[in-house]
Amino acid sequence: MSKVINVPEIFGSMVFDDVTMKERLPKQTYKALKKTIQDGDALDPNVATIVANAMKDWAVEKGATHYTHWFQPMTGITAEKHDSFINPTDDGRVIMEFSGKELIKGEPDASSFPSGGIRATFEARGYTAWDPTSYAFIKDGTLCIPTAFCSYTGEVLDKKTPLLRSMERISAEAIRVLRLFGDTETTRVVTTVGCEQEYFLIDKDLYEQRKDLIFTGRTLFGAKAPKGQELEDHYFGAIRPRVVEYMADLDQELWKLGILAKTKHNEVAPAQHELAPIFSTSNIATDHNQLTMEIMKKTAEKHGMVCLLHEKPFAGVNGSGKHNNWSISTNTGKNLLDPGKSPAENKQFLLFLAAVIKGVDEYQDLLRVSVASAGNDHRLGANEAPPAIISMFIGDDLQAVVDSIIGGKEYSNDSSKKLQLGSNVLPDFIRDTTDRNRTSPFAFTGNKFEFRMLGSALNIACPNIMLNTIVAEELAQFADELEKADDFDTAVMDVIKKAISEHQRIIFNGNNYSEEWVAEAERRGLSNLRTTPEAFKRYLTPKNVELFVKHRVYTEVELNSRCEILLENYAKIINIEAETMLDMAKRDILPAVSGYVRELTDTALAKKALSDSIPCDAETEIVDKLSKLLSCFAKKIAALEEVLIKAKDVEGDQEIADFYQQEVFAAMQELRAVGDEMETSVSSEYWPYPTYGDLLFSV
Ligand code: ADP
Ligand code: MG
Repeated sequence: MSKVINVPEIFGSMVFDDVTMKERLPKQTYKALKKTIQDGDALDPNVATIVANAMKDWAVEKGATHYTHWFQPMTGITAEKHDSFINPTDDGRVIMEFSGKELIKGEPDASSFPSGGIRATFEARGYTAWDPTSYAFIKDGTLCIPTAFCSYTGEVLDKKTPLLRSMERISAEAIRVLRLFGDTETTRVVTTVGCEQEYFLIDKDLYEQRKDLIFTGRTLFGAKAPKGQELEDHYFGAIRPRVVEYMADLDQELWKLGILAKTKHNEVAPAQHELAPIFSTSNIATDHNQLTMEIMKKTAEKHGMVCLLHEKPFAGVNGSGKHNNWSISTNTGKNLLDPGKSPAENKQFLLFLAAVIKGVDEYQDLLRVSVASAGNDHRLGANEAPPAIISMFIGDDLQAVVDSIIGGKEYSNDSSKKLQLGSNVLPDFIRDTTDRNRTSPFAFTGNKFEFRMLGSALNIACPNIMLNTIVAEELAQFADELEKADDFDTAVMDVIKKAISEHQRIIFNGNNYSEEWVAEAERRGLSNLRTTPEAFKRYLTPKNVELFVKHRVYTEVELNSRCEILLENYAKIINIEAETMLDMAKRDILPAVSGYVRELTDTALAKKALSDSIPCDAETEIVDKLSKLLSCFAKKIAALEEVLIKAKDVEGDQEIADFYQQEVFAAMQELRAVGDEMETSVSSEYWPYPTYGDLLFSV
């Protein structure tokens, strides 16, 4: 029997949110804090003391004993170090205390987090600083304070700080543009994000029998199951009872943390599912997505399952991504990417649209870099997810508008309605007509853009930092020009026309999975950065460095360190995968196949001994086939071992990453191919691992 749950009551019950603050803080304190949250004003230390105490009281009532500064270092996951609230008293007892200083600032040992050479280990101090724009929450009996993380010398070592900086930048530049359109009310512009999260669920017992899943999150060997996704019976299909229970439990856990979990359904691949929240500001969406991934995994364990967030856990089966739905809104509640109805608003919309088009074209490489990872390399360009080529889908309605702007012609929606752009009414775009291209990496979906290249495991901060900064830059350029113009109305149409004409090559409304598109994109001069190391070569071009430095999102030192960390991370991941493969190949697969061959040989010999007339060609044939494959397998093992040794001699982060991609990864693929072929001929009693069929259809 299922319990009736009161969703509004549990929602946010573990969050020190606005309602709780209002209840628990003195009026003045609440006001001061609210001002900091909304306008980014600096916080008075006295206010912090009162807030800290109220937070602690609230947390203790909810059963918390510890607090932690919760942050997002460059590891891609979140970090926390728990301190209890206890403080000794004179009589040998303790009281529960939490000071303003402890709330505002933490000093974790930074030496164990990646810093890309910014901070030598001898000056290991790092700081975490409270981010009051993201609510504190309780997780596992600990009060978690969302914080930014920087080095002793002030360089950022995390993903939140640059995200907050980029949000500031786009807000400032968007407001300049809005003022030109006569908007005097907006005082802050925020970017909003709703990200759809894909994941796999598999049985825990089976998971534990696979070293590759345990060490790398993906299967390194595994022949195709007889059934895959070809019947298309999983997407939106009825959800199995065990998964239903999991999803219900997950929803509740997320709701308690104030996460707006909204939509859940089965995805295309067997055992694959999706969860989407209602959108919020980029900053909160990022924190919430990190939490969602963590809770997804934890909740799965409770249900005897494992949640795989790797971008490609199973070869030959769809991988998992994350769709980053992104828009820009004013604090007066207007979505700036909503085409709307009236002409004045539409010109404003067209200018914002032009900024995105120009930005995505000029900074294709940065957007590509922002989603590059060893895991995502299996998806991008693998003929399922969007290819590695960045292009934009805007849909037929907008395309017609764009065409008319470029051609300087009248825009006609249908034969009865002729509209002169800029002086007449534009159509009210029907959302549905824009959302049908599922192959585009960057699609306009009615009032937002959906960036679809993100891998499922990614921290969404990075792509959003790029998007915000890029669009801030384009808006700044537009504002520079328009602020000088004598005749704003003409000037604005000129700016829109120029931007769209010069950057129309980035728009592609066709099928992004087709061969023709790859060739067409090349003709258009669009970049096609297929792998992570290839993409990273374009990270620190002068143009990109200038962008970030100009907008003070990253310093040059910070950029260099990031590039170094990410390249190193790539090489480390491939290295772990290669070592895991060797372990599996030498210690499990080879002995298993050899054992099976011996059994068959023994059988054949026994038959022969009994009588020459008993046929043993079945055994002999398999023995012959497997023996040849085994010998080939042994050679591929040796080849992989050899390149791993060579890898140790390569110098330079980029060169090492290149080597792992070109040599090590290639050797792994070859080893796998032989292993997978043997799997199809070896008795299931002998094969040391659960198969794809077991894993994908077990839950
Ligand atoms: P789909 O058709 O791609 O499944 P939906 O229209 O249901 O998508 O929306 C997908 C996501 O987009 C949801 O997380 C939703 O909250 C988010 N979204 C909707 N509007 C906005 C917006 N203005 N800004 C950011 N995200 C948004
Ligand atoms: Mg979507």
